[in-house]
Amino acid sequence: MNRILIVEDELHLAEGLRFNLEAEGYEVTVAETGETALDLLLHQRRSFDVIVLDVMLPGKDGFTVMSDLRQVGHYIPTLMLTARGHPDDILKGFAAGADDYLTKPFELPILIARIHGLLRRRDWLLASLSGAPPALAAVFTFGDKSIDFERQELRVNDAVFPLTLMEVNVLRYLVQHRDKNVSRKKMLEDVWGLHEDTDTRAIDNFVVRLRKYLEEDPAKPRYLQTVRGVGYRFVPFP
Ligand code: CA
Repeated sequence: MNRILIVEDELHLAEGLRFNLEAEGYEVTVAETGETALDLLLHQRRSFDVIVLDVMLPGKDGFTVMSDLRQVGHYIPTLMLTARGHPDDILKGFAAGADDYLTKPFELPILIARIHGLLRRRDWLLASLSGAPPALAAVFTFGDKSIDFERQELRVNDAVFPLTLMEVNVLRYLVQHRDKNVSRKKMLEDVWGLHEDTDTRAIDNFVVRLRKYLEEDPAKPRYLQTVRGVGYRFVPFP
């Protein structure tokens, strides 16, 4: 049975989700604050399959909880609930390490579909780790680096950097469009599925993080280049 941790302080909403997700066969735990969620995950070492994490929480907000988890190497698939009318929150969530998002208010079947999506990707990952053949070309190698899309890892020599699902999606997109200029707007549309009037500069924070993994000198990027006035270009063999 898949276990879901819901982090939400609005108890009527949290209990409504619990009722419906339990009816779908999930085991559900509700945490009313980010601090409680971190305690369950990091100190009590309780195991969950998916976190549904609200951004608006008393005390630590959802972004902080997300980045606290990722910083200690906790890579559980996480869906963030963001407020409608705050499109920048979506990118902030991804920058903090979220795997997917849903804006409030949402339709319950959509939430359940997103949770299924996260579990499916997690299962593919587990299948590839257990030695089953990966479905597609799973590794892109360039120089001393390789991106393993199935295992969600970037390997540089002997160092291994775990990647979030969204980082994997961005890298896959860049590999598919290698040696071409890609605009920020196109990336937001194709990778994040965002058509809203989002501040495209927010994507730059994301690139900064990828450069830390990819570049010998992140201040002078060779692989993930900035194309002034346009966006980015990924050059695997500079
Ligand atoms: Ca809330």
